[in-house]
Amino acid sequence: MRKKIIAGNWKMNMTYEEGQKLTSEIVQMAKDENLDGVTLVLNPPFPHLYVVKKLIGEASNIFVGAQNCSDKESGAYTGEVSAPILASFGVDYVIIGHSERREYFKESNELLATKVKQALAAGLKPIFCCGESLDIREAGTHEPNVKYQLTDSLFDLSAEEISQVVIAYEPIWAIGTGKTATAEQAQEMHSALRRHIASKYGKEVADSISILYGGSMKPSNAAELLSKPDVDGGLIGGASLKSRDFIDIAKSY
Ligand code: PEP
Repeated sequence: MRKKIIAGNWKMNMTYEEGQKLTSEIVQMAKDENLDGVTLVLNPPFPHLYVVKKLIGEASNIFVGAQNCSDKESGAYTGEVSAPILASFGVDYVIIGHSERREYFKESNELLATKVKQALAAGLKPIFCCGESLDIREAGTHEPNVKYQLTDSLFDLSAEEISQVVIAYEPIWAIGTGKTATAEQAQEMHSALRRHIASKYGKEVADSISILYGGSMKPSNAAELLSKPDVDGGLIGGASLKSRDFIDIAKSY
């Protein structure tokens, strides 16, 4: 059985107090509303990680993740944060290759492959993001384009390693735009990506990997997207900043 994962990407939002309030509300609601069957991952900006981890406490279905890590293990790289440092603070997951990092920080498939390896070596679970731009979607080449992102960044991993990776399919045209992929579009791509993984690693490995959808997921559209057989959860941006919305998305399962 694949894990059902609802991950919140806070991006560069939330002060210390706001982050504490949001985390405490989510932890309390998840407990009161019996959300045990869904894995929740909170991905705040770096300075929050330690406190968020503490606030999660003993909740066994809630985890903390970073939004990025360095491709280097340690050393003179001012401003960077390595995977081993994150792991030493009790961080569980790390988002790698978000389209905002690919676009604004020019992160290449090759660099992302190195980051994924760093994360895995430190015992973190990478949430590897992939997805096509509007141009590519309109040209009809989205499927080979996104498969290539996986091939280039993940297919050097062993079967054991790739089994630790969570994939997030995030069409760029749907991120922060209010425009969501239809449940059919999401299912079509998720199933194509799973078949692609199976072609290299076999069906058993492909069937064990959670593939999340990301792009303007909210309480009103979550149930339909999450009802699809190959959609194993969501990576949520805007709606993860409101505890009620984030929990309601998780409850849509
Ligand atoms: C994201 O940034 O990963 C995302 C899916 O954002 P939003 O939900 O705001 O579209």
